[in-house]
Amino acid sequence: TQALAIKNLKKVYDDGYVALKGVDLDVAKGDFFALLGPNGAGKSTTIGVISSLVRKSEGSVSVFGNDIEHDLVRAKRSLGVVPQEFNFNQFEKVEDILVSQAGYYGLSARQAKPRIEHYLKKLGLWDKRFTQSRMLSGGMKRRLMIARALIHEPELLILDEPTAGVDIELRRSLWEFIKEINDQGTTIILTTHYLEEAEQLCRNIAIIDQGEIVENTSMKQLLSLL
Ligand code: ADP
Ligand code: ADP
Repeated sequence: TQALAIKNLKKVYDDGYVALKGVDLDVAKGDFFALLGPNGAGKSTTIGVISSLVRKSEGSVSVFGNDIEHDLVRAKRSLGVVPQEFNFNQFEKVEDILVSQAGYYGLSARQAKPRIEHYLKKLGLWDKRFTQSRMLSGGMKRRLMIARALIHEPELLILDEPTAGVDIELRRSLWEFIKEINDQGTTIILTTHYLEEAEQLCRNIAIIDQGEIVENTSMKQLLSLL
């Protein structure tokens, strides 16, 4: 089975705008995959549908063979998503945010503690564990979102423009961190509008434009065409 299988996905927003016009996409288990496209192409919409935040109009999506409609609980368990916008409780402390998240997946605080410590240390947030999320810098919030998406150790991690608006140094360290997660066997999909970011990281790539996949190939193949 594929890590992600999208078939004929269409999305028409309530105002009539057609954001996805029949997207087909397969991502193999273990892959490091980029969905590249300009602003407005439909990247966030695609991720919204995969993570059940956006209602699809037509088509199907499955995560490790579990359809997001019929096997939602199983699909969600194998999926971690890092959205673009920060959506924390501003007054909750960093550690508590992660404990709550772990709770959604049935982990007790005691079971969650070692994982939380691991990810907070890895992501340079350990010193901030008792800090309210509103006090974090933009880059720290981004790292907290990544930790939160990993807390139930999903097999597929999807990141929506993970390095948008972060400085070059943090960008490089996030790249290293995500690569490491992939090396440990987690399938990674990221969206980006920088070819360079895809080039640095990804094995396979799809290019989306105006709600349609216009290219779907290996990074190597794409670079040889440019
Ligand atoms: P990307 O992530 O590639 O920048 P999006 O998926 O965010 O693209 O948006 C695709 C298109 O859908 C854009 O033209 C955007 O304006 C439109 N869109 C996004 N959300 C909505 C919405 N809630 N209602 C209507 N149109 C939307
Ligand atoms: P980073 O420094 O992680 O790239 P930003 O560019 O968002 O993140 O932050 C720039 C600077 O502003 C950082 O030094 C950060 O500490 C500070 N900062 C950002 N948001 C806040 C906040 N809410 N409270 C205090 N300092 C903040």
